[in-house]
Amino acid sequence: MAEDCLFCRIVAGEVPASRVAETARTLAFRDVNPQAPTHVLVIPKEHHRDVAALVAADPALLSELMRAATGVAEQEGVHESGWRLVFNTGLEGGQTVSHVHGHVLGGRRLGWPPG
Ligand code: 5GP
Ligand code: ZN
Repeated sequence: MAEDCLFCRIVAGEVPASRVAETARTLAFRDVNPQAPTHVLVIPKEHHRDVAALVAADPALLSELMRAATGVAEQEGVHESGWRLVFNTGLEGGQTVSHVHGHVLGGRRLGWPPG
């Protein structure tokens, strides 16, 4: 566990979160500040800084994360209406938590391009 990483602390149960799904190596929980009716974060339990670091270190784990995101979309009932998976990466990408996370967004018509 990385020191002072919010999402590592959520994995450890030190910070509460509304968990929606879990596998041995991934966790999904609701974003505290939802931007859509469905807004769930999917993360590997292991600490990796961002999606680039994750794919370099463990592509199988990234694949598992994609599967977890798809499972969340199904569980949330947005798999047919449509949904979006976003990995904000780095400062200009809007990443504010340096533990890789995919945003699963759905439940309304999402705009494009993002602001
Ligand atoms: P980023 O901006 O890094 O792509 O996304 C970070 C996300 O984490 C934001 O959407 C933010 O609302 C969410 N977030 C920040 N702190 C917490 C928290 O303590 N709990 C939960 N569930 N989500 C959080
Ligand atoms: Zn972490």
